[in-house]
Amino acid sequence: MLIINKTKISIMKGDITKVKADAIVNAANNRLLGGGGVDGAIHRAGGKEILEECKKIGGCPTGEARITTAGNLPSKKVIHTVGPIYKDGNHGEEKLLYNAYYNSLALAKDNKLTTIAFPSISTGVYGYPKEKAADIAIKAVKDFANKYENMEEIIFVLFSDEDFDIYQEKLRG
Ligand code: ADP
Repeated sequence: MLIINKTKISIMKGDITKVKADAIVNAANNRLLGGGGVDGAIHRAGGKEILEECKKIGGCPTGEARITTAGNLPSKKVIHTVGPIYKDGNHGEEKLLYNAYYNSLALAKDNKLTTIAFPSISTGVYGYPKEKAADIAIKAVKDFANKYENMEEIIFVLFSDEDFDIYQEKLRG
């Protein structure tokens, strides 16, 4: 665990749908209509209320974030953000991934949510190289924590041993 300007930054291995934070972040797609991976898991565990609110919102541009109920999940809210599909790194992927993390944190702050859990956005079906994605994720949360002291805890919830090991290494060094 790391503390930056009053914000705890921690990691855990597991399923984000089980995490009791003020907000959990969904790695959604532009249409916000659910999908595979963590998105599918959140909608399955949270129930149809989440999808109903997503439909009303109507979509989300890449790098931005939107908030809904958490339905049956133990968290209070779900923040849906859309990470980039990784092509070759020359299509603005880095900035878009950074924005996805940063804008999710800003939306949590605007809603007075002070504990937030993130999955490893874009590193599944969207193909972002895991190490690079972890560097960007960590930079975004550190930048946010340095700028605002309202966030109590930011948790990276890693689904695989590989992802967990990458974050552990990077947060140590
Ligand atoms: P993307 O389309 O943004 O790449 P994916 O859902 O395919 O999103 O993958 C993002 C990350 O979420 C991957 O590292 C995947 O292993 C992880 N993941 C999948 N299911 C869960 C879950 N229930 N909790 C946390 N992370 C998950």
